[in-house]
Amino acid sequence: MSELLQQPVIKEIPPKGDDLSAWYTAVCIKAELVSYSPVRGCVVLRPYGYALWENLQKHLDARFKETGHENAYFPLLIPESLLTKEAQHVEGFAPEVAWVTHGGQEELTERLAIRPTSEVIIGTMYAQWVQSHRDLPILINQWCNVLRWEKATRPFLRTMEFLWQEGHTAHASAQEAREETLRMLDVYQDFAEHVAAVPVYAGVKSASERFPGAVETYSIEALMPDGKALQSATSHDLGQNFSRAYDITFTDTHNEIEYAYTTSWGMSWRMLGAVIMTHGDDRGLRLPPKLAPLEAVFVPIVKGGDDRALAAAKDLAARLRREGMRVKVDDRDESPGYRYSDWEMRGVPVRIEIGPRDVDAGTVVLVRRDKRKGEDGAKITVGHAVLGSVLREVLDQVEASLFEQATHFLREHTFVVTDRAEFFEKCRNRAGMIDAAWCGQPECEALVKAETGATTRNTRPLDGDELTCVACGEPATVRAYFAQSY
Ligand SMILES: [Zn+2]
Repeated sequence: MSELLQQPVIKEIPPKGDDLSAWYTAVCIKAELVSYSPVRGCVVLRPYGYALWENLQKHLDARFKETGHENAYFPLLIPESLLTKEAQHVEGFAPEVAWVTHGGQEELTERLAIRPTSEVIIGTMYAQWVQSHRDLPILINQWCNVLRWEKATRPFLRTMEFLWQEGHTAHASAQEAREETLRMLDVYQDFAEHVAAVPVYAGVKSASERFPGAVETYSIEALMPDGKALQSATSHDLGQNFSRAYDITFTDTHNEIEYAYTTSWGMSWRMLGAVIMTHGDDRGLRLPPKLAPLEAVFVPIVKGGDDRALAAAKDLAARLRREGMRVKVDDRDESPGYRYSDWEMRGVPVRIEIGPRDVDAGTVVLVRRDKRKGEDGAKITVGHAVLGSVLREVLDQVEASLFEQATHFLREHTFVVTDRAEFFEKCRNRAGMIDAAWCGQPECEALVKAETGATTRNTRPLDGDELTCVACGEPATVRAYFAQSY
């Protein structure tokens, strides 16, 4: 068996604060989100991890449909001659493209790229579909896998093959394309904050961080507990760059031929990495209820021959499932303590305890995962008749409290800095999001990166005051969040 096939053996989850990276890997494996695979750079998404992904898809897809998009599917393989048409794009992606060179024994006359992203193949098809301004806009999203050559393996954060969605739209005007780019940035921010409970900063990428071939790239950036930023989604205004390369033209209302304006935008399973790191604690995962594979788990306590609690739990669970809730009864022959900590480790938002005395009283006890043991409101006794409605309220409270805790952390670790020495020190020490006035020059950004490891995560307009760049002293053109990043 190869070394890569050996799973890290996780006995105990190490404290999160000691070594975030070790904690993260341990939680991903122990909670059975992923397994390492025999393929370097690729992980297996196990059922519990896949269910998390499915819930992300469900919420994001609903938002795409609400904003007028439809799903479609395009080929995995891209002929080399197509890929090389947009110069900046191919240059940006060349180092990480995997190539198919043979079909069976036969060497191909033209290599085929495994998609690192799909602007090329989709742009080629849009060129065929678009003739007139009446064919626009095209608003399509694709859920798929992509592959970018990568040696490291960090579940969700850095893998060769990963799952994502990529939206691709074509429009008749620059303004429409820009509006679409910003609309999808909003969708991502709304999803991150209201579903994943992860607060983010939204803004414009600097030129050096821009998507290859884009006119403008926007991103949402979350802050992880180790002070590093995690880019959680991007939205690109591609202007006419791709439509010129792939010949997406249309006759406008004046019967003139014009190039279309295109956009693309994506969120990957990286977002799940942000969820895990943001919310988890020393006991393991803490999942936001809207994404959690299970919203609640019943742990019935069978004493002696008295298994009435098990029967009651099954009845109550069946009732909740009929009301559309994601619940499970844990009837394993293990001690209550073992089952409690197992579901805590897996991050289930609410545990429902029920023993023979609860059956007599017609109650259950809800235990919230977002609260510490013994904290006010961590345990709530509820009558069977109102369980569904109370549970729903409690799940909303858990969702809100996880967001509040993460927002508190982000605020505490965002520093408005005007002093140059303090700026470099905070960037170097990974203090968090360093909010500073910046000149916008690539040379200045490169210097900060070389000296501290930090880059601009995204930028936004100045508030109006005339300011100088925190790093070089030249006039500032924007405010930027600087941070080291994943
Ligand atoms: Zn500068």
